[in-house]
Amino acid sequence: MNIFISEKNFIHNINLLKLKYNKDIIPVIKANAYGHDIKIISKLLLKYKINICAVARIFEALEILKHINYDKNFKILIFESIESNYLKEIINNSQLLISANSLEDLSLYLKSGISSNQIQLKIDFGFGRNGIFYKNIDVLRNLIIKSNLKFSGIFTHLFSVEYEDGIKIINNFTEIVKELGKDNFQMIHLQNSLGITRYGSIPISTHLRPGMFVFGFYEEGAFENNLQKVFSLKGKIINIRDISSLKYLTYNLKKNLPMTLSKVAIIKIGYGDGFLKINEGSFALINNRQFKIISVMMDTTLIEVDDSVCINDSVQLYYDFSSTRNYLKMNMCEVLSILSNKIPRILI
Ligand SMILES: *Cc1c(COP(=O)(O)O)cnc(C)c1O
Repeated sequence: MNIFISEKNFIHNINLLKLKYNKDIIPVIKANAYGHDIKIISKLLLKYKINICAVARIFEALEILKHINYDKNFKILIFESIESNYLKEIINNSQLLISANSLEDLSLYLKSGISSNQIQLKIDFGFGRNGIFYKNIDVLRNLIIKSNLKFSGIFTHLFSVEYEDGIKIINNFTEIVKELGKDNFQMIHLQNSLGITRYGSIPISTHLRPGMFVFGFYEEGAFENNLQKVFSLKGKIINIRDISSLKYLTYNLKKNLPMTLSKVAIIKIGYGDGFLKINEGSFALINNRQFKIISVMMDTTLIEVDDSVCINDSVQLYYDFSSTRNYLKMNMCEVLSILSNKIPRILI
């Protein structure tokens, strides 16, 4: 089985968001680009001169730098705070932008000799995750004036707050940015995919920061018309077996399996690849028809089929994200990001 990555659809999604909202896009490509492959996706960004992306951890950023050609205009924003033993990497690499999630972070970064041009301030409104607290704004303003600091950016996160609370955050954030001096920040951003759906184009922001939307999928509450799915998981049936005379199938007594047909098709994917056992009972698409997945083992999956299905026919899994989400009771961000690196990603 392979994961096919559609270059056309990925670029379509970024351009669509950019045009519709009239903002630049910071594609968020953490968690192996939501399972799509960080290497392939960062190369695409470079190819289409999309000069910025974001990840959660420094290791993800360093992984990208290993695989792309050196281009000092291509920047990678890291959301998590950087530990002091990694600050050298940041100084040596002007492509990396880091987040000051607290005043302590900020003073550590500046003391270590990191330029404020490489730092983005994360403002937190008291939801208990990372972020410079709202109440420290005076300290921050004095520091900016005293040392004449120009930052790479300033941002916050809307989380999944209620609509009205989101509006309050947007207003507070806007005030703060104005107070600190809008021109002291190259990038101003606060919207993930859900934030885009809810609040559209926010005047103060320069960028949008979507993850799932650039890959063309949705979760509850987040929706955007005309995005195209970038991911497809496809492969071939490598064998078909008639099991009518067998008592056991894999590790189960056959009569205990929810089967009605007498043949199984074998495909090469399993829970060792991140295709979880809870997929049993859901459907695979073969020749545009749905067939039930009977058993998921570590490397192999069995699908019950009828006589119309042949060896080498093509099989697609996770072909309909909304039924996958409903069946697995997991969101697609989870389902995709746990697919193992062992599954080859192929750019089409
Ligand atoms: C993951 C993440 C995003 C992207 O979120 P989506 O819901 O996938 O659009 C944006 N901002 C931050 C800080 C994130 O951690």
